[in-house]
Amino acid sequence: MTESSPVRTTKPRQVRPRAEGWTQRVDAEGKPLLQFAAPKKGMPPVHLADLTPAQRVEKAVELGLPGFRAKQLEKHYFQHYTSDPAKMTDLPASGRDDLVAGLLPHLLTEVRRLQTDSGDTIKFLWKLHDGALVESVLMRYPGRITLCVSSQAGCGMNCPFCATGQAGLTRNMSAAEIIEQVVRANAAIRAGELGPAEHPDERVTNIVFMGMGEPLANYNRVIQAVRTMVDKEHGLGMSARGVTVSTVGLVPAIDKLAGEGIPVTFALSLHAPDDHLRDEMIPINSRWKVDEALDAAYRYFEKTGRRVSIEYALIKDMNDHAWRADLLATKLNERGHGWVHVNPIPLNPTPGSVWTASEKPVQREFVRRLNEAGIPTTLRDTRGKEIDGACGQLVATEEDREVASAVPVD
Ligand code: SAH
Repeated sequence: MTESSPVRTTKPRQVRPRAEGWTQRVDAEGKPLLQFAAPKKGMPPVHLADLTPAQRVEKAVELGLPGFRAKQLEKHYFQHYTSDPAKMTDLPASGRDDLVAGLLPHLLTEVRRLQTDSGDTIKFLWKLHDGALVESVLMRYPGRITLCVSSQAGCGMNCPFCATGQAGLTRNMSAAEIIEQVVRANAAIRAGELGPAEHPDERVTNIVFMGMGEPLANYNRVIQAVRTMVDKEHGLGMSARGVTVSTVGLVPAIDKLAGEGIPVTFALSLHAPDDHLRDEMIPINSRWKVDEALDAAYRYFEKTGRRVSIEYALIKDMNDHAWRADLLATKLNERGHGWVHVNPIPLNPTPGSVWTASEKPVQREFVRRLNEAGIPTTLRDTRGKEIDGACGQLVATEEDREVASAVPVD
């Protein structure tokens, strides 16, 4: 410990990560279980958003229609947010239903929606075609609208402070299941369901891959979804910097992402600057250590020129010590200047856990030390806590499952 105040007589308290109220799954060696291989079963039918523009044309031809019909479908889906053949009057009636069924199969059924009192945050609970449940959270801020999307049903990374991780991995989501969350959110915005519009053409401007799942463990589908988000001609035409991919730190996949040539914003969920603690908080740290994850984040910056974010959930007496703020600053400064900023976020409570957010003065001190060391640091307060829609709180509850079981998948 580097606490050197002469008046200090007690060592800072150190709470160790422990699973409380639930049992963390372990592998054959007794280590927290990491799930990478997801079952293929349950994947949905192929959808336009799973295909490249050329493949969409081929598929239209396969369905007996000229290739340019694919372009019309793209417009309906990505610009009018509709998959309803009745609304596609520019397509000939004959063959229209087959074309739409073949390229825009139904993917997400809305099970329920929770909204904050002020109406500027909506949490959607979706049922996938195989019954798996996922969530997305839509948030209106002045001048931007952010959607937090899920990339997997459940998550295999098993972080003990995250509600999603506790449930394990059900399956990967398809690229189209990821995109459909954005399209449905856009449809809700257009229908005026996210409160009063600031201007008539409002839609989702920012995407964060911070819902359920580890996006880099579902790499190819996530990249296909990102490509579709940013494609101006054949997709949603969003800005790449408005898309944030957040990861626990799968190092080879971070390098791969850096080489894609899509300048998305990159976020690393670090949560501890020392392996001693991170080994226990983030099971993937058994594969890639703090320094390896930080080196990969730095390479991402070097390659893309995009400043990266470090996420840090502040947990009382566990990772919020002044010396950890200093150690984090040292490790970041060692690699360079101006390449990174830190986003601490007070821990959101998860069911069954006795861990708590850091006290306010401790949060402020943590932020102050980093800023003083030259690392731009801003405390993030997450939205949607009262509807369990905040980071780490996304998990289908018993009640959700009950409601979902009564909703037919059409
Ligand atoms: N698997 C990815 C993305 C999903 S989580 C990742 O780990 O980055 C999005 C962010 O929420 C991550 O930084 C995650 O560590 C954080 N988080 C998880 N549980 C949390 C909690 N209970 N309180 C605050 N943040 C949490």
